[in-house]
Amino acid sequence: MRKLAAGNWKMNGTGDNLSMISQLAAAHPSPKSEILICPPTPLIHRAATISDSITIGAQDCHAASKGAHTGDTSVIMLADAGATYVITGHSERRADHKETNKNVHAKATAILKNGLKPIICMGESLEQREGGNTLEVISNQLAHSTPDMAAGHTTVIAYEPIWAIGTGKIPTLTQIGEVHDFIRHQLQTRFGTAQGGAFRILYGGSVKPTNAAEIFAIPNVDGALVGGASLTVADFSPIITALDAA
Ligand code: PEP
Repeated sequence: MRKLAAGNWKMNGTGDNLSMISQLAAAHPSPKSEILICPPTPLIHRAATISDSITIGAQDCHAASKGAHTGDTSVIMLADAGATYVITGHSERRADHKETNKNVHAKATAILKNGLKPIICMGESLEQREGGNTLEVISNQLAHSTPDMAAGHTTVIAYEPIWAIGTGKIPTLTQIGEVHDFIRHQLQTRFGTAQGGAFRILYGGSVKPTNAAEIFAIPNVDGALVGGASLTVADFSPIITALDAA
């Protein structure tokens, strides 16, 4: 399994920031891990022409292929622009746009049907964590957001505790390991041992150069989905190096 270092730029960056991608490619000429950058939609096309060694993805899509959906972007359009992956179900989409597991399932299905790879995000709130409900929440999100047509080589799962995103707080390494083992077990129960074992399970939430190596040493952590620290080469490059070394 090739590990994945995925950067989610969120709503940050204009054309001036694209030089970061060529700098990253120069810093990692033959990375062991796959490097993915998901810039804002208007930058995808330009980003995709910069380097063969940096994969480009999108942060969201519409589930329909075309039609009267003002302001939305279909998977076909994202593929045409050069995207290979699409993040879906990010907690900011679930919160800001009231996206449900059903919406995420429909988007992931559209992504897969069009030959792109979904990164399906899930994670508990602080209240759910403190209430002891983390595994129940993850079980529900995983079961209802992941389509039956998902497979290890096409689909990535991202565990992102909501309270760890952009806060500088992370769960203990034991807590991260517990959730990743649980997701692996659920995937293997549903898709079979070999197929379920082939999904990459990313951790996301305040991954930084300072904590990356210890997070990547946890079994069943197959990479990271990185927000803030993916915006500069100075932060993202050491995270990639730590993943390559894990
Ligand atoms: C994210 O946006 O998916 C994320 C994990 O953000 P950050 O790394 O900034 O916590």
